Amino acid sequence: MTAPACPACTGQWPPAGQRIADCGATVAYLHDDQFFAGWTVLVLKRHATELWQLAPAERAALIEEVARVARAVGTAFDAVKLNYELLGNQIAHIHWHLIPRRADDPAPTAPVWTVAHAPRGLDAAGTAARIARIRSHLDA
Ligand SMILES: [Zn+2]
Repeated sequence: MTAPACPACTGQWPPAGQRIADCGATVAYLHDDQFFAGWTVLVLKRHATELWQLAPAERAALIEEVARVARAVGTAFDAVKLNYELLGNQIAHIHWHLIPRRADDPAPTAPVWTVAHAPRGLDAAGTAARIARIRSHLDA
């Protein structure tokens, strides 16, 4: 019996066209749902499902990358607060959701998962614009 293929390890997810940057131990992608503008996912390059499976130096590098990308995303989208979510219930491969919460947030005290909304996809130009906006803050 073989384990089911991991979508993050087989290139099925996230979509390559949503890649923002190679950050070192991780790769950042624009999330499919842009209802919360700038929502980014940061995916560990190698397969692991739990933080305790990482060696201390790798875990430290991961959290540094989380902080670096969160700062860029938060600055790019004028976040009042960043949400950091590491779940893995649906895709069991370490990936952080970095979600800017803005002043116009419809439910500022609620987790995004409980905010009822139609997922907001972007066309190619809209996706490219958001990716460029985040990239411009990554090295600033
Ligand atoms: Zn994986």
